[in-house]
Amino acid sequence: MPAAPAPAPRAGRGLELAEIFRAHGAAYRPTHTLSRAQRRAMHAIETCRTAALGGHRDTCDTCGAVQISYNSCRNRHCPKCQTLAKELCLRLQRGGGVRV
Ligand SMILES: [Zn+2]
Repeated sequence: MPAAPAPAPRAGRGLELAEIFRAHGAAYRPTHTLSRAQRRAMHAIETCRTAALGGHRDTCDTCGAVQISYNSCRNRHCPKCQTLAKELCLRLQRGGGVRV
């Protein structure tokens, strides 16, 4: 089976690890030995902020605009989730407030 073509990066940013895992993870896993934790991390990263983890709808009380957000995996190895955690930690260390 030929390898899937590499996904094209979206405009304005580089290629994400999740995109690489989604494109090549299914072919990679059967041919490489991974620990259970590694498999779980790969799956978490692949599904982070996708419909696979569900989501929620936020509606603006003022204008009624609706925004759908997908849930995060919260895996400690996920770059998306850890980037947010790192930013919050840095803001707290700098003495800045954090809005939740
Ligand atoms: Zn994540």
